[in-house]
Amino acid sequence: MKNYKDTLLMMQTEFPMRGDLGKKEPEIQKFWEELNVYEQRLAKNANNEAFYLHDGPPYANGKIHVGHALNKTLKDFIIRYKSMCGLYSPFQPGWDTHGLPIENALSKDKKVNRKAMSLSEFRTLCEQYAREQVEIQKVGFKRLGVFADWEKPYLTLNKDFEAEQIRIFGKMAKKGLIYKGLKPVYWSPSSETALAEAEIEYYDVTSDAIFVAFPVVDGKGLLSNDCKLVIWTTTPWTIPANLAICAGPNIEYAVVSMNNGYFVIAKELLEGFTKTIGVSEYEIIKTYLGSELEGVTYHHPLFNRTSPVILGDHVTLDAGTGLVHTAPGHGADDYIAGKKYGLDVLCPVDSLGRMTKEAGEFEGLKIEECNVAIMAKMAEVGMLMHAEKITHSYPHDWRTKKPIIFRATPQWFASIGKIKEEIIENIKNVKWVPTWGEIRITNMIKDRDDWCISRQRVWGVPIPVFYAEDETPILEEEVINHVASIFEEKGSNAWYEMEAVDLLPAGFTHPGSPNGIFKKETDIMDVWFDSGTSHHAAFKQTYNVYPSDLYLEGADQYRGWFNSSISTGVATTGVAPFKTVLTHGFTLDGEGRKMSKSLGNTIDPIQVCNESGADILRLWVASVDYQADCRISKEIISQNSEAYRKIRNTFRFMLGNLFDFNPETDCIEYANLPEADQYMMCLLSDLIEKIHNAYNNYAFDEVYRSALTYMTNQLSSYYLDYTKDILYIEKANSHARRSIQTVIYHTTKALATLLTPLIPHTTEEVYKYFVGNKEESIYLENMPVAEKYENAEELKAKYAEFMLLRNDVLKALENARNAKIIGKSFSAKLSIKPTESVQKLIDSMNINLQRVFIVSEFEVVNGELVGETFDSGVILVKPAEGVVCSRCWQVVPSVNEDELCPRCHEILNK
Ligand SMILES: [Zn+2]
Repeated sequence: MKNYKDTLLMMQTEFPMRGDLGKKEPEIQKFWEELNVYEQRLAKNANNEAFYLHDGPPYANGKIHVGHALNKTLKDFIIRYKSMCGLYSPFQPGWDTHGLPIENALSKDKKVNRKAMSLSEFRTLCEQYAREQVEIQKVGFKRLGVFADWEKPYLTLNKDFEAEQIRIFGKMAKKGLIYKGLKPVYWSPSSETALAEAEIEYYDVTSDAIFVAFPVVDGKGLLSNDCKLVIWTTTPWTIPANLAICAGPNIEYAVVSMNNGYFVIAKELLEGFTKTIGVSEYEIIKTYLGSELEGVTYHHPLFNRTSPVILGDHVTLDAGTGLVHTAPGHGADDYIAGKKYGLDVLCPVDSLGRMTKEAGEFEGLKIEECNVAIMAKMAEVGMLMHAEKITHSYPHDWRTKKPIIFRATPQWFASIGKIKEEIIENIKNVKWVPTWGEIRITNMIKDRDDWCISRQRVWGVPIPVFYAEDETPILEEEVINHVASIFEEKGSNAWYEMEAVDLLPAGFTHPGSPNGIFKKETDIMDVWFDSGTSHHAAFKQTYNVYPSDLYLEGADQYRGWFNSSISTGVATTGVAPFKTVLTHGFTLDGEGRKMSKSLGNTIDPIQVCNESGADILRLWVASVDYQADCRISKEIISQNSEAYRKIRNTFRFMLGNLFDFNPETDCIEYANLPEADQYMMCLLSDLIEKIHNAYNNYAFDEVYRSALTYMTNQLSSYYLDYTKDILYIEKANSHARRSIQTVIYHTTKALATLLTPLIPHTTEEVYKYFVGNKEESIYLENMPVAEKYENAEELKAKYAEFMLLRNDVLKALENARNAKIIGKSFSAKLSIKPTESVQKLIDSMNINLQRVFIVSEFEVVNGELVGETFDSGVILVKPAEGVVCSRCWQVVPSVNEDELCPRCHEILNK
């Protein structure tokens, strides 16, 4: 057989089959950096409409994890897409750099002895540590291929950030939204600090639960002196702080005779109570409504004091006795109820969780020890009715994982109550994606107490308040702004290095300080106040814009960053800091479990990048329904590698068939394309439109799926399959071949551009091997626009019918192959007796069906045909008869002396 290989126009490309992304991606990233591709794109869009995504700052501690990777990759999808649509979309990354974990990292991991240095020296070490952490994470984010202003990130420790943050504090103070109060707050004895709600986690614990009797002093004529009020508590250590017993106004209470005494308890809970304490005989003497018991007084069994029965709507019949032990220093409801009745806020527990002098004989005991001592003492005085262990959900410090307590301390608060309605109104003006986000944040704000913004730590922004000699706090905006200007110049360490008088404006006087002496506040601000002011401290300062278009964070930020940001934003400007809020879920392992070091199921994103490629990890991000929780495992990654190979191979095949194509001279206009190629241009146009919609709806899984399905079904298994016979065989410059190359050219360019936000390294590589005049980087290309072709609908309708015929043909060929009637379909002869409508379709098709069906012979039979019956008609598959052309391998009736079929003969000799 003669060899005609050299006369075929087989695909040619240097584009490698293997991705080898672990090695190649860092080179591509270096190429971007050297070319300043990100900056070039910004410059190109500088005068266009803008789109701002404001970055939520991750905490600067430790290497990036897969949750970070998910978050930043989603942001990168959006920034790249918007930029390639021509929008001016700069992205300033941020970091949260203050707070306890950094103090702990220094004290524990780095063995820094804080006591051996000044506060400002320690804070300088904290800053150094935080900056190192930022660099570590920055390298990680860059490895993912995330585009950003990496050289100009915002850090909450930056001088200008700190200065603006306290200006916001000053504005809020001026509006009367900042106050100091003694209030029970979540207090962590293990961290020795107050905690925000966002820093609390609930775990099940076993606690002592006790029923205790408090003897009545003045029964108001309703209760006799030998009556006792029964309360139930799971925190016996709070008994010394008891200042009231709270009844529900509409709850029915019974006076019960049992155990040689009279006891008061909610009627509905009586049966369960007697069972629990093991009493079978009892009698209800009388019942009263809670509202009638208001003002009854009782004697504290362990302390010589008399306290009242008060009323509160928070009393429920879920557990206990319906009479609630009330310690305003140790509970939020207790505090509110106590405030109504003018009760003191008693808090006989210190910052380490030890009882103070006010706890009398219990002084010095730790909470757990105090529980035991209280129970013993109550038993001793005969007032302990029952003690048992119960398991219940209890709040813990999210960092130390140790239980927290409620403890009243002097704290600084931002008054959320005063602006709650305004915040809720603003929530309605924001677009929440998914939509349930609106309900979630609304409820979070509704249920929110005033925000405790002070922390008794050192690594943070100082609360810029001075105290006069008579302890009056000075909250004047001018004073705070003066401090801000000092911070702007010197940083917040100035607070610790300078004297109060030097931090105050020159000549400042105050009636409370006749001697001109002032003290500085020692508390710092909650880190949520830092990040919660980034809309001004970073975003507005950088871009002079407010609000931003989009916030995109994990769903835990409804109670975290979205919450703190909208609070300070509305407090200072009356407007929410974002127009749209988009959230993603958490990352879980392949079985849906939380990832943890102890389970050994964590996935290190950088390891994935180095082993499989950032583009594979990014495809994973694109593949998941990120608004719910997202699973990731080695298997899931390898599934994405599989899909990646399909995408890569399709690009490679297309590039390979453009090797002799010059778009400037060889492109064929749509109107002159054969119908089958026009049809592909119509499909491409639909795909472009679909992908734009998906991007604009942040539905990246749809972008990915649409592109992959298109490449697999429309390209690989259909168009690129049958057109090989034209691309390889026909003359280089033939109209048929150039038409197909035109389609492939537009398809390659459109798909590579559309997929750049998802797999930028791979499309950059595709672009490098792409033909024609090009930009320096694919990132400088604009997104393709869907064309409207006049005959599109007609063509698509026709080809939809044709695809049904094609399905039948493929099935018939497969059956014949399975029955060993034919080998490859190309060696087959295909005969069809079509139905009337299919006959009409075939007549109307301007296409060579022998080629499209990839057989050697195709015929339409008018008369009788014995074969398999399909919807389209009767189809018969037989081996084609004749000889094989040495060049195109088609089976033809005869070949010439050069072993060529007539078609090949003509091609070679024209
Ligand atoms: Zn031939």
